[in-house]
Amino acid sequence: MSPRPGVDPRAVAVVAGLDIDPGYLRGVVLALTGIGSSPLGFRTTGTPEDFAVAEFVAGQMRAIGLVDVAVEPVEVDAWRFLSAGVQVTNTEEPVGSASYRAVSFGGVPPTVPGGVTAPVVDIGDGRRTVVDPLELDGALVLLDWRHPGIHPSAVVLELARRGVAGVILNCPARGPWYGTADALGGFDSHWPAGAPPMVLISKEDAARLRQAIKTSAVSATMTLQAQVSPRSRGANVVGYLPGDLPGPIVVGAHHDAWFQGAFDNTSGVAAMLGMARALVTSGHRPRHRICFTSRTAEEYGITGSLFDWCIGAWGQVNTTHPQWSTESPFHLCVEATGHRSLRSVIEAPVELAAWARRVGRTAALAGWAPTGWRVAPPVAGTEQWPFLLAGIPGVACYAWEKSFGRSNYHTQFDTIDLLDFDILAAQAKLYALLLLDADHDPDSILDHRARARQLAAVAIDQAHAALQRAAADHAEAKGRSAFTRIGKSQFALDAASAVSHPHEQTDGDLHAINSAITALADGDRAGAVKALQSVGHHELVPFLGAAAFGDHLARHELAALTRTWAYASHLSPVVNFWSEIATLTGQPGARPDGPWLTASLRRAQRRTRLQLQQRLDAMARAVSRRHPRMEVVTKGDNG
Ligand SMILES: [Zn+2]
Repeated sequence: MSPRPGVDPRAVAVVAGLDIDPGYLRGVVLALTGIGSSPLGFRTTGTPEDFAVAEFVAGQMRAIGLVDVAVEPVEVDAWRFLSAGVQVTNTEEPVGSASYRAVSFGGVPPTVPGGVTAPVVDIGDGRRTVVDPLELDGALVLLDWRHPGIHPSAVVLELARRGVAGVILNCPARGPWYGTADALGGFDSHWPAGAPPMVLISKEDAARLRQAIKTSAVSATMTLQAQVSPRSRGANVVGYLPGDLPGPIVVGAHHDAWFQGAFDNTSGVAAMLGMARALVTSGHRPRHRICFTSRTAEEYGITGSLFDWCIGAWGQVNTTHPQWSTESPFHLCVEATGHRSLRSVIEAPVELAAWARRVGRTAALAGWAPTGWRVAPPVAGTEQWPFLLAGIPGVACYAWEKSFGRSNYHTQFDTIDLLDFDILAAQAKLYALLLLDADHDPDSILDHRARARQLAAVAIDQAHAALQRAAADHAEAKGRSAFTRIGKSQFALDAASAVSHPHEQTDGDLHAINSAITALADGDRAGAVKALQSVGHHELVPFLGAAAFGDHLARHELAALTRTWAYASHLSPVVNFWSEIATLTGQPGARPDGPWLTASLRRAQRRTRLQLQQRLDAMARAVSRRHPRMEVVTKGDNG
């Protein structure tokens, strides 16, 4: 079925008439940014601040006139930040004493109350060639987060095995985050159980500390005051605008935040409330009931997991309202918005990409995308992800540029000064148009043929006949239920947590294993190493010994994923070439070279090829309306 071409003119007219008041939006942001567990802010899940925000939002919803307003508890591992610091305790010149401000990441365990006092060792980015000759047992380490793909939660697995007592982290210049001068930063930590505490200091203070360590032996006291309450409760809030059809269409924004979080994501909560308020005032009755919701635990929500974000939205759709999976026609996720200069992004699955562009063009003409706009494919970093996995079509909107990710994102500079409330009010109209045009006829905005074309391209590339037939079937699919099948079967994360098809990581791994085998046969050992390091998680091999690398891979096993949306994300089975790489790079203690090397790669090749086949079969089965006819497709080694 072809999607309908235009944007519903009545939806445009209703949105044009909506009175989204910049003063109201500002009031919401002011009220919420004043709530925090520390002078720096912080409104994290399962804390008194989380419930204070939830009560504020619920109060606004009632005042607006939404019905069935409720605070709905959801299971989270609460983490509440109170304070952190690093005190250099040398009293003799030239180092003297110094005190550095610090914060930490969601889920990191606190230090003992007086802090950890120990010598500080500079370990750079933590690679083994630096760490190996050092004595780290009982030490504090100064660690650089230099590469986006080498996450501190992986590096700390090696540090924990060496007895490190605490990690002082920073993002140096040209690192992935927190580039503004004197920036502190927050994130979900992915922190592994049993790892030592960690605090983050600014890159400027890290440079001072590094200089001090060069000058003399430095001791410091690292403190992190934080409360961790496993298996406690966070607060989602819902309120409904009645409609003729049950739905509901869901409009959601997360209300947990690092620091003051004015932009990320108090602005989104304000936009969500501003839309609800304007719709009620306008007297417009939507076709579908609309659930406006503000959610907890987007930034962080569970300890010990690599997949510790979007837990509040996952709890909402998976536990609190599981019927939404098949009944909710559309989800609009509103994230950080109203920034003075950043362009709006509408993240849409391929079924909704053409529609999102149509709405974007219409909105831009009306002046509702004042900083510009673009359409992009979904990422796993917004609450759109758990909703897509549950089978609910939808889009996520926010303002973003890469430069913002490297500067003020998730820092103490995320304050009300970043926002322009006229821009925020205009962008809220873009979101309202997405909402009302979807409400007009949600089935008709889905372009199943676009998905079918994508699947057919995969089928041809992989020479998979069953998937090709399934793609042809899917081109004729109609309506909402066809999307649910897609959501539950075709959205996956690769080893770097980027959104992909379920077969893609395995396919890439197979290509790399094939190249490694060829390179080895040609005597090109460096080529073989390069190929193997591109498989799965092997970019971590320079940082992790065999045991710690095994620890990291174990974190991807199914048993470790069950409390999160990760088990629905079709993660690829992990492959472990640590020993092969150690041999090929001549590391001390590595197994001697021998025929075992090629034999091992060939075994992995067979396993991976079988895995690829199973994944493609599953993709085909999930979308095929016919009875699956299993067949053997033979493929070359480089397929
Ligand atoms: Zn956010």
